[in-house]
Amino acid sequence: QRLAPETTTTMVCGFCSTGCGLKIHLRDGEAINVSPDTSYPVNLGMACPKGWEGLAPLSAPDRATTPLFRDQSTGEFRPIDWHQAAEHFRNQFQSIQAKYGPESVAFLSTGQIATEEMFLLGAVAKFGFGFLHGDSNTRQCMATAATAYKQSLGFDAPPYTYSDFEESDLLVFVGANPCIAHPILWERVLANRRQAKIVVIDPRQSETAQAAHMHLAIRPKSDQTFFYGITRLLIERGWMDRDYIEQHTSGYAEFQAFLEAFTLERLQLETGLTLSQIEGFARLVHQSERTSFWWTMGVNQSYQGVRTAQSIINLALVTGNFGRPGTGANSITGQCNAMGSRLFSNTSALAGGRDFTREDHRHEVAKILGIDAARIPSSSGMAYDEILDAVRAGKIRGLWIIATNTAHSWIEQAETRQALAQLDFLVVQDIYTTTETAQLAHLILPAAPWGEKEGTFINSERRVGRIKRVQRSPGSALADFSIFRLLAKYWGGLEQFEELDSPAKVFAVLQELSRGRPCDITGIRGYQHLDEAGGIQWPWTESDAAAASRFSERPMPIGSQQRRLFSEGKFFHPDGRAKLLFDAPRPMPEQPNAEFPLLLLTGRGSVAQWHTQTRTSKSAVLRKLYPADLYIEIHPEDAERLGITHACAVRVRSRRATIVARTCVVTTVAPGTIFAPMHYAAVNQLTLAHYDPHSRQPSYKDCAVRVDRM
Ligand code: SF4
Repeated sequence: QRLAPETTTTMVCGFCSTGCGLKIHLRDGEAINVSPDTSYPVNLGMACPKGWEGLAPLSAPDRATTPLFRDQSTGEFRPIDWHQAAEHFRNQFQSIQAKYGPESVAFLSTGQIATEEMFLLGAVAKFGFGFLHGDSNTRQCMATAATAYKQSLGFDAPPYTYSDFEESDLLVFVGANPCIAHPILWERVLANRRQAKIVVIDPRQSETAQAAHMHLAIRPKSDQTFFYGITRLLIERGWMDRDYIEQHTSGYAEFQAFLEAFTLERLQLETGLTLSQIEGFARLVHQSERTSFWWTMGVNQSYQGVRTAQSIINLALVTGNFGRPGTGANSITGQCNAMGSRLFSNTSALAGGRDFTREDHRHEVAKILGIDAARIPSSSGMAYDEILDAVRAGKIRGLWIIATNTAHSWIEQAETRQALAQLDFLVVQDIYTTTETAQLAHLILPAAPWGEKEGTFINSERRVGRIKRVQRSPGSALADFSIFRLLAKYWGGLEQFEELDSPAKVFAVLQELSRGRPCDITGIRGYQHLDEAGGIQWPWTESDAAAASRFSERPMPIGSQQRRLFSEGKFFHPDGRAKLLFDAPRPMPEQPNAEFPLLLLTGRGSVAQWHTQTRTSKSAVLRKLYPADLYIEIHPEDAERLGITHACAVRVRSRRATIVARTCVVTTVAPGTIFAPMHYAAVNQLTLAHYDPHSRQPSYKDCAVRVDRM
């Protein structure tokens, strides 16, 4: 009785990009429990363990409840008030800028805060504080997909809708493990009633691979070669869609000539697959009326991720698998609001998916914001890795990190921590004081997370969903939105941002910024409309809304509609065509050798873990669902050769560090490879700093190591 809720509201989940709808049950105006929203058009009435445990991280004992400033003499944090914190922030950053120039400060942002917040952050920091450099942690997960789509399709536009899982005849998962990484999307795969075939292309026999009809365990980083070879084979056999290629793509002749080198012999040699596996897969694609390709980090986190993603996009285009139900070259996003960051954060792209380098784009944004266009930088500035390099080189002296755990998640961790430790001024704005990054800060700003603030997230299928304040924040923690406004007020001379005094007002600005762009959301009638409709996928223009209202008297029940892009075969390049882009595959930057004979693959380890465990470790329920200590998966052949048994303590050594782990001797990894879950801090001590040249996304999954029994 004591726990019986008095009322219930709804909002989207704050963990992954699936964007499930949740019911939040309230008593005395505070959230007391969560259950899945059975009417939301995303999650089929289900939630994964993280969603069910969504409230637990809010009441953790290590919540940041007051600003903390590191005392220079003792090295200890001491509590201060917001007035002092904002003054420290202003004085330190302004003095660094005055002493070392405008390029001496930067920020690192996130895909975890509301779209309105990330937009305000980018606007205030870049157009107000004069920060030239600011990037998001989406650089670690989605930069490759965003770049690949932009180059190939003319805009960062994932084309699909979740119903494509249910409407495919053949689903091809590449470097993706939705069984545990996107479990509710896997439920949608299971809801497919077309007797679809499932193929998984992954060096590791992941949970998804175990459930598939066909697992193609290719050699690590041979995926680009694989897709070129398959496309060549399909073309050679006349199994392409000639009409689609002629009407909707450009660059086919050059692509076809390039593919000549990808013979069946080469394919077998480089991928390690048999002729019958290769031909069997090609035949499946040919025979399936609707094939959808889905990829995640196995593709994106690679030194050649963009061209690999485009090799998948090319195959979908050449076979006409675009714009129809159950088709598409579909990148599944990671974080709850990675898509908001990609389109509206003013980090790598200017709001509305615009380019910093285009004068017309800068003027459009300036006009809507009512600011001088000269305040908007003419370049997107440094990428994440370049910012950290500049810190190491002493060029960047002040850094502001918001809602991301760089000291755990970034590649080549020792170098990263050393760089952060040498900053003159490091501000960490987070919900906890205990993250690896917060521990290095000079100033901690206590933030309010999902559940304690208003705004919107955009999920993987481009659906704008709402988040709400259902709980009071502890102590003096503030919504990131309020922190950005407070810092702008103290900075001085930024009156033009004062009107943006609520997330709803910023949302209206975002709508204006989206007008006429591929991500147009001008047809959404405010937050209430998102509640009524069950989220709304972009684009939803004013004319879409007007047309829909002609058919229905009710406020458009569009949540139940599933809307995909490119159904008319018109892409966002000026000629309306998709570009077939390609490059010769390159060898792995760090090859295994006699000293480091094994290749480390990293990835998600459990449905109950999220990234650096910053939040999931706060739930006793979630902690019970995964091992407390780091483990590696190693093949029995390698284990036997090394004298290793199950649950054995081992040293894992790369050229950068040595860490300790327990073994899990299993055949899910191939001989010569080991797997480690990315959620444990030690793993990124091993990884190496290599990046895709187009997207600057780090390559997390190709690090040569050795394993020794302890
Ligand atoms: Fe939340 Fe993702 Fe789990 Fe859905 S699948 S409940 S969005 S963490």
